[in-house]
Amino acid sequence: MRLIMLGPPGAGKGTQAQRLVDRHKIVQLSTGDMLRAAVKAQTPVGRKAKDIMARGELVPDAIVVAIVADRISQPDAKKGFILDGFPRTVPQAEALDAMLAGKGLKLDAVIELKVDDGILLNRIEKRAGETHARGEPVRADDNPEALKRRLAGYYAQTAPLAAYYARKGRLSSIDGMASISQVAAEIDKILSKLAGRAKAARPRGRQAGTAAAKAKPRAQAGRKRKSAKSPAKSAVRSKKASSRRRPRTAARRKRPQRA
Ligand code: ADP
Repeated sequence: MRLIMLGPPGAGKGTQAQRLVDRHKIVQLSTGDMLRAAVKAQTPVGRKAKDIMARGELVPDAIVVAIVADRISQPDAKKGFILDGFPRTVPQAEALDAMLAGKGLKLDAVIELKVDDGILLNRIEKRAGETHARGEPVRADDNPEALKRRLAGYYAQTAPLAAYYARKGRLSSIDGMASISQVAAEIDKILSKLAGRAKAARPRGRQAGTAAAKAKPRAQAGRKRKSAKSPAKSAVRSKKASSRRRPRTAARRKRPQRA
């Protein structure tokens, strides 16, 4: 399964992604986490990204695209992944499309979490407070000033991705202001609907070994063939058949009378 979590900072993408990782045994690829690790390790990428991130601005596309390309090629991403924080711009989305096409892979879904700005500010302040209380360093961009810039960047550069993926028929939007468990339930609903659709679209041969295919009685296959005919045509056919039958029935009825 290959998913994208889309939504403003503080929308709950990471929380939901973590739950899906545990459930579906796929990996969560958070560009924010990867970049923060690079900053901490003081790699060349980290040194370039450090100040940009602290201001709440976006790291250049080329850097992030290279990080993701490298990450999704690793063996643990083979079973699937959830991208959290990527893509964040239309050029990043186009680069991802090209990356996946080059590997013969496709995206299964893009899940957008919608949350009002006022709630985001509260959530970020709460996250910073909790991190501080645990004695851990607070994110350099978890402050009102940087958040304002992150939100402006989100609406200008990332929000258009919803339309981009809607056009491709991949987007599902959820109310991210509901409780964590309600949002999780909505995501599960979307994913099981997708799984059902994918199963129905699979060619019959590939389902042959499944329990469902084995349990399917022959009669059902017959019903399927019948329903494949155009209803209009079969209506004409049965009308013709009944008009052919009528004189014969009438003749049969007449015979005893003559006798
Ligand atoms: P948020 O919690 O705001 O969603 P993240 O943890 O995903 O933030 O990312 C933190 C910062 O890392 C961003 O503000 C940005 O500077 C940088 N960053 C993360 N992902 C990307 C990306 N795809 N493109 C550009 N910059 C990114």
